[in-house]
Formats: sequence, structure tokens, C-alpha cells
Amino acid sequence: MAEFTPATLKHPPQGEIRVDNVSHSYGVGKFAKEVVKDCGFTIEAGKLTVMIGPSGCGKSTLIRLIAGFEKPSKGSISIDGKPITGPGKDRLVVFQETALFPWMSAYNNTLYGPRARGEDTPEIHREAQSLVERVGLTAFRNKYPTQLSGGMQRRVELARAMINNPKVMILDEPFRGLDAMTKALMQEYYSALHEEFHQTAFFVTTDIDEAIFMADRLIIVSNIPTRVCAVVEVDVPRPRRLVDIYENDRANQIKMSALSMLHEEAMKSFVGGSKAASDFVDAYSKRTGKT
Ligand code: ADP
Ligand code: MG
Repeated sequence: MAEFTPATLKHPPQGEIRVDNVSHSYGVGKFAKEVVKDCGFTIEAGKLTVMIGPSGCGKSTLIRLIAGFEKPSKGSISIDGKPITGPGKDRLVVFQETALFPWMSAYNNTLYGPRARGEDTPEIHREAQSLVERVGLTAFRNKYPTQLSGGMQRRVELARAMINNPKVMILDEPFRGLDAMTKALMQEYYSALHEEFHQTAFFVTTDIDEAIFMADRLIIVSNIPTRVCAVVEVDVPRPRRLVDIYENDRANQIKMSALSMLHEEAMKSFVGGSKAASDFVDAYSKRTGKT
């Protein structure tokens, strides 16, 4: 096997992101809708920070703000101490929806970023080859996205992001929609990549098991408008394997407290503000003794 030279590791890790008292609204005047409220947290350099919160709470909005696609209505976001004022090649977003070009092979998709910048050099081809190998797709390098399984497409997506050597990888529910077994394998796969490269990462999910398995630091956010409910250091040793994490007392303890927080927040978004909704909450409280 050819030796893999990490494209993404620049020691010491860089890309510490500070989100400072950020609020964000869509629309203006009486149509304004606040989606993010007084949010503050740090994405530590070299760590895998996972954000978990109910669907529709504002997580992708926070990603767009960190990526610089939108400006926060209030507060500030910085990377390594410098304010973020727009998109930059130091941050790269991997979205849930596949963004692979269907007319390009796995290999050409991987090379897309450097080629778009005019860097079609022998070095970058070597890099692309070792990345394609690192994501286990050497035998599939000439296949087109439709000829690849969902898991393989996700791995091309990772290679295509990593070749650009961003300081920070931002992943917005990257494994959503994969079948359970492929998803589990992708979680182990990305976790192992992180253990190898220690690349700063911000990973957003709605899946508690995925969140705890992946995270160095877990940020639990509320129902819309999103605010930080809790920040937990997931002090579970690495390397991690999915089969071990279910038996880890610390991981289970974090899971239980995160679940109860998330359940409360998810219920708020589930029932909304109607009379039927408040009746549902009352009935639930009576039945369970919880408010
Ligand atoms: P999540 O990623 O947590 O599911 P989003 O950030 O996608 O949540 O969305 C949060 C809320 O903001 C949703 O109610 C959504 O409808 C609304 N929203 C998202 N993008 C826009 C936009 N461009 N204009 C108006 N509302 C938006
Ligand atoms: Mg989203």
C-alpha cells in the first residue's frame, strides 16, 4: 500500500472558532423570525466538536454564519482571533445533500477544488490518489457517483473536502439518510480519520448516539431560537469503537442527561403553541410526573 501523507495535518492544529453572543433573524419588521439567540461557544482547534439539537432549531443557520455565507444580526464570530466577514478557504462545509458532480468520476470529483484554482500539478494528483486510497476507493476511482453506494459517495465527499486542506471541516448532518449499518461504519470511519489527523471539526447532528460516539465536546442546543443548553466534554478515551461505547459508563451517563434535555426541547418544537399542544404537554406531565 502506498504511504499516505496527510494533506490535512498542519501542526499545531489551527482554526479555533469563537461564536460570541450571536443572534440571527430571518426577515424584517413584523415578519422577522429569530432563529439563533445569544449563542456562545468555542470550537477548539484540533478537536471534534459536535452540536446536537432538535430538527429545525437553527443548526444549519449557525453553520451558514460560521461558514460566512450569512452575517449574524448580532454578535461576532472569529477564527484564530480574526473576525469572520465572509466565506474563506480555511473553512469547508460538507452538506447532507451530496454535492458531487454526477458527470465526474470519484477521482475527478476529488480533484475538483484544486483544479478550479488552476492547481493541476503532479503533486496534487499524488495527493488525490492517496486520499482516494485513504477513503478506501482506489478500485472505484473511475466510477461515477451513481455507480457508487451512499457510503462511498460520502467518502468521496470527504476526500473532495480534505484535499483543499481547510483548517476547519464543518459537517452538516453528513450521514443523514444512510442506512443504519453504513451510517455506523461512516461514524467509525470519520472518527478514525479524526484520531489520525486531529483536524478541527464542527459536526452537526440530530442523532444522540452518533453525537456521543464522535464528540470530544458536545454542545446541546435548544428548540428554536437556538441557544446553548449545555456543553459537555465527552471524556471517553480514543480510539473509540461503536461496540465499546455502548458499554462505557461515562458515555451512557452523558447520553441520559443529554436525552432528557433534548426530549424537553424536541417536545416544545413538536407541539408548537396551540391549545391541543398545551393539552398534550399537560397530559404528558400528569402521566410522567415531569414538566
Ligand atoms: P436546522 O438545521 O436545525 O434543522 P435551520 O437552520 O435549517 O434548522 O432552520 C431553522 C429555522 O429557520 C427553520 O424554521 C427554517 O424554516 C428557518 N429558515 C432557514 N433558512 C431560512 C431562510 N433563508 N429564510 C427564512 N427562514 C429560514
Ligand atoms: Mg439543518
